[in-house]
Order: sequence, then structure tokens, then C-alpha cells
Amino acid sequence: MNDDAVRLDSLSRRYGSGEDAVTALDRVSLSFPKGTFTAVMGPSGSGKSTLLQCAAGLDRPTSGSVAVGGTELTGLSERRLTLLRREHIGFVFQAFNLLPSLTAEQNVALPLRLAGRRPSRARVREALGQVGLGGRARHRPAELSGGQQQRVALARALITRPRVLFGDEPTGALDSRTSREVLTLLRGMVDREGQTIIMVTHDPVAAAHADRVVFLVDGRVHGELAGAGAEGIATRMTELEAVAC
Ligand code: ADP
Repeated sequence: MNDDAVRLDSLSRRYGSGEDAVTALDRVSLSFPKGTFTAVMGPSGSGKSTLLQCAAGLDRPTSGSVAVGGTELTGLSERRLTLLRREHIGFVFQAFNLLPSLTAEQNVALPLRLAGRRPSRARVREALGQVGLGGRARHRPAELSGGQQQRVALARALITRPRVLFGDEPTGALDSRTSREVLTLLRGMVDREGQTIIMVTHDPVAAAHADRVVFLVDGRVHGELAGAGAEGIATRMTELEAVAC
């Protein structure tokens, strides 16, 4: 039995070729145990987005391997990869990416519809209830605040009960109070439901909600911190930015 939700083995991603080649990720090996919350931090250009895209099967590594829930992504056809993403991977981004003409419940039901499943109203309401929006099912995005919209996006990401939830700066567009609400929700999903979360962020306060923070510099893992507070994380980031210069 393997207790890793996601596993990266010697993952490398190079862009371009010849003199213009950029090594965005350089032999990164990391495991993300089930039911844990990991933040990924690093200076701009350190490879955070590339790591997330490769780990989530949105981009293909140049070498090395990615396994999600024990399934190797390398070598899967585009079709199988799409199915795996649809069934087992959830995403939340900085932009909420809700469809403006659909209500909250229609937005949440969308991943199931796209998978050809008929979403039960009870399941959709349960997902909205989990993010504290049970009473807003019929609202359209424009009738909701930014924090509420991100919570709808979260319910939509979790409707398929994914093995792993990826966040790319999920609180980047929110004010600090709303951001804290969303982070508390994420933390609760890990603690209560055993959800696995991997979140890229530049915000030490956001990262402090994770169990551990993995730091990247120039496409390589540059240490990690477990159970650190925002101040400790901010200090480490300042040190790393000096290294990266
Ligand atoms: P971060 O998310 O930490 O800012 P990225 O993963 O976006 O870092 O980028 C890592 C490196 O790879 C950077 O040097 C960036 O310029 C380069 N890079 C990212 N995507 C591409 C691409 N599509 N083509 C060429 N270079 C890229």
C-alpha cells in the first residue's frame, strides 16, 4: 500500500532548446502523503507553477515521473490523462473561473456533468453546505462576494471527491479576512475529511495553514519547514530571495 496521494520522482521540465533552454524544474523528488496540506513557495521563476502543472497532469515533464493515487501519469494517453484529471484531481485558482450565467449550484455540478454523470441535487447542496453556502445555491456569481465565489469554486473542485486538490494562489485575489476564511475551510477539509491539498502561494500567512512548506529555488527543492508560523516562513523566504538573486 502506498500512502502518498502524489509522488514526484526526479521530475525535470525544460522549456525550449539549445542556448535558449530553461530548466524550470531540475530533478525534483517529493511525496505528498494522503490527508496532508503542503504549501509550495519560492521566488518568482523558481518553478512553482511548473511543478503544480506537472503534478496535476496539465503539463508533461521532460523526464522523471509523477504518480497520483498510485497511477503513473507518464505514458498515459491524453484521453486517459483527461479522465484521471476529471475524476481524481481538483483545482482552485486565483481567478475563480465561475461561469457567470450559471447559478452556484449549476457551477458546482459542472464537473459531474462534464464527466457524463447526473449530479444529484443532494450531493451538490452538500458540497455547497461544506463551504458554508447552503443558502446561496440559486445565486449567480455576480450576486456573491469574492470570498463566496471562491468558496463556490472550492465546492466545484471537491464535488468529484478528488484524491488531491491543487491550489494556485487560491487566496491571491481575496482580502486578508476573506482569505483567512477560505484557508480555514481548506484546513478543515484536511483535518475532517482527510483531503490532500497542494497549494502554491507567495503569502506566508496562507502557507502557515499548511502542515509543511516546501521551498523551491531555481527549479530545485531548497528545504522545507514543518508546522512553521507565518513569521518563520517569511524569514525563510527573505533568505531564499537573497540566494536566488
Ligand atoms: P514560478 O511559478 O515559481 O514563478 P514558473 O514555473 O512559472 O515559476 O517558471 C519557472 C521558469 O520556467 C522561469 O524561468 C520561466 O520563465 C520558465 N518558463 C515557465 N513556463 C515557460 C514556457 N511555457 N516557456 C518557456 N519558459 C517557461
